[in-house]
Amino acid sequence: MVVQPKTKGFLCITSHPKGCAANVDAQIKYVENKGPISGSCKSVLVIGASTGYGLASRIVSAFGCGASTVGVFFERPGDSARERTASAGWYNTLEFTAKAREKGLYAENINGDAFSDAVKQSAIEAIKKSPSGKVDLIVYSVASPRRTDPKTGEVYKSVLKTVGEPRTEKSLDTDNAKVVEITVPAATEKEISDTVKTMGGEDWELWIDALDKAGVIAEGAATLSYSYIGPKLTYPIYRSGTIGKAKEDLERAAERIDAKMKMHRGKAFVSINKALVTQASAAIPVVPLYTSILYKVMKEKGIHEGCIEQIYRLFSDQLYNGNCLDFDENGLVRIDNFEQREDVQKAVFDIWPRVTTENLNELTDFAGFKSEFMKLFGFGIEGVDYSEDVQI
Ligand code: NAD
Repeated sequence: MVVQPKTKGFLCITSHPKGCAANVDAQIKYVENKGPISGSCKSVLVIGASTGYGLASRIVSAFGCGASTVGVFFERPGDSARERTASAGWYNTLEFTAKAREKGLYAENINGDAFSDAVKQSAIEAIKKSPSGKVDLIVYSVASPRRTDPKTGEVYKSVLKTVGEPRTEKSLDTDNAKVVEITVPAATEKEISDTVKTMGGEDWELWIDALDKAGVIAEGAATLSYSYIGPKLTYPIYRSGTIGKAKEDLERAAERIDAKMKMHRGKAFVSINKALVTQASAAIPVVPLYTSILYKVMKEKGIHEGCIEQIYRLFSDQLYNGNCLDFDENGLVRIDNFEQREDVQKAVFDIWPRVTTENLNELTDFAGFKSEFMKLFGFGIEGVDYSEDVQI
């Protein structure tokens, strides 16, 4: 089948198998060129392993550290009869698994709902079959709009709203390339608690409890999860909004998990990462306009990074540099330090009030934003023949 992009709002409903494979190959090549990370992990569980920061974590673990990996994700296979491509994460994982196994590395995949007890048990079985039978790094990188509570069966949905007052702010209508004003409504108490239940730290804790009970956490193991802070301008929508409340809960969970990991002489922490175009972040109001300006500024300064550069730096400079982790005053690891640099933020907010639909392409890197977005689904990649028939 010839696969072309079909976008719907902040979603692309088709993915290109060869384009996704090329994306994964480029990330593997980046890591291999940077070289091995010594004294690092040997057996890794990544929860949310098929796209974005989780995929980058799995690639750095396998190709930078030489680790066995078990990847957990929720992806859709292709359906030739109905001419439906698989989701991008499915093709990414196919390529990752082939390349890892070619290198002689153990790589197992669990496709299912990470929030369920059954998937946790399947992951434990896969870890037990791995060469060491244990894990020394657990990365929790799930971004999901809903969660079914494994105990009660109740379904919770996350919302992207403010807490307190509604907020009117500049935003980007990415479909029509227009700078618009949007009003983000205030969430109800139930919407806030449902978002915390979905994207907060509870499930990360349940994973650690299940792994601990099964005896598969190695001595000295680490576990980490990802969060975002961003600039003050997006606080009402992100950091102080519903998603920020969930992230605060995740950061608090890290403290409780850290106490549990200490029983294994291990540790738990949250890393604050840079704003990047991923399937999850493209859906957040206001953030795509900020990201388009940020990309322009950071590219001009020669300090732009994608997921793979961020995670390689996290592993090599922080997690496995032989020293202690470099925490900020709130106990968070910061790999958003280039984004938060004063000169970067000043340049972004010099542009912010001036940007309009007419000067969007001149003042921002909207072109880069769009091409990164299409790349997530394997489109617009050099060397891929998009007129060719491919197996979906
Ligand atoms: P993403 O959408 O690229 O990846 C999400 C992953 O979660 C995928 O592997 C998906 O299959 C998996 N997933 C979703 N629901 C699942 C379920 N029910 N069961 C199993 N797997 C499931 O997202 P991302 O942007 O890489 O986000 C990962 C983490 O990084 C999030 O915690 C996010 O808040 C954080 N983060 C993102 C940014 C950013 O700008 N993108 C910045 C800082 C921190």
